[in-house]
Amino acid sequence: MKLEQAPCDLCGSTDVELVATLPDPERIAPGEFDVVLCRHCGLQFVNPRPDKSAIGACYPVSYYAYSGHQKTAQRPTLRKKIKAAIRSSRALSTMASYLPGVCAAAIDTPFEEDFNYWMPSGAILEVGCGSGGVLDIMQNNGWRTVGIEPSSEAALLAQANGHQIFVLGGDDEYPEGLTQQCFDLIYLSHSLEHMHFPSRSLKNLGCLLKRSTGRMVIEVPNAESLLTYLFGEVTPIYDVPRHLYFFSPDTLSAMLKKAGYHIESMRVFSRPNQFVRCFKSNTRRFSFVPWQLKADKNISSPEFLAAMKSLSKYAEQANLGAAIRVVVSRPD
Ligand SMILES: [Zn+2]
Repeated sequence: MKLEQAPCDLCGSTDVELVATLPDPERIAPGEFDVVLCRHCGLQFVNPRPDKSAIGACYPVSYYAYSGHQKTAQRPTLRKKIKAAIRSSRALSTMASYLPGVCAAAIDTPFEEDFNYWMPSGAILEVGCGSGGVLDIMQNNGWRTVGIEPSSEAALLAQANGHQIFVLGGDDEYPEGLTQQCFDLIYLSHSLEHMHFPSRSLKNLGCLLKRSTGRMVIEVPNAESLLTYLFGEVTPIYDVPRHLYFFSPDTLSAMLKKAGYHIESMRVFSRPNQFVRCFKSNTRRFSFVPWQLKADKNISSPEFLAAMKSLSKYAEQANLGAAIRVVVSRPD
């Protein structure tokens, strides 16, 4: 496998220290990979790494984001008709946001929590859209849907559901058909950490985001989470070499600001299931705990699940959630 050395993508420094040496947990890429920390800015990344020509072979055919799915047919219920009417006007959308019950009932896209109001339908670009699950939801809500996806197999599945897909990486050079477009919403869900040059991708995308009113939503795993503190290198974040970067709230903010974005909001969050999965696959490490986790009957007990729920809640309160979600805009 062809490996390449890379300087820090955030500050350009080559002054790094070794954090961990890890094998591919999927056992696809041979050998082990060094995770390093930039001494200047604190960004963590894989170095050396498979180059862009070699990385495709590191993804299993069964990669979760690539699985096909049946698009749910849109039923024109009265609720949907009312929502569509409200969405068509920013004034009505804002008014609806003052009615918490109505607003909560209307949550049917992955973004209401971020914006706390219904965005009028517009154009969305998803970077790393896989087979298009999120684009399906947005299209059903009246959005024009465009995706960027490096896997041609996944892109075909998304295209079959009526989305315009560009088969390329987020950090590749964008073709004219894409650079001439402008988007109200750009979404990157667990894709920035897969790219070789995330800074270049953010710069590319900035030119496509509508100034002032456009929003970009980015979600990445959090390197400074309770999960990584408890489980270290066996945490799903260290999915090397598919994950090439390990962001913290600080390094992600710094990269976004450097690319000219304004940060509207940033939060970290956790899900109890992530703790359940980590404990279940690492019971040997925790043989000292009183629940006797090795026994299957205890690991699914209501007490265990309640404990995982509490841990997850604590992680969020302590700002140690497993994922970072940030909303940014571009000033005029
Ligand atoms: Zn750096």
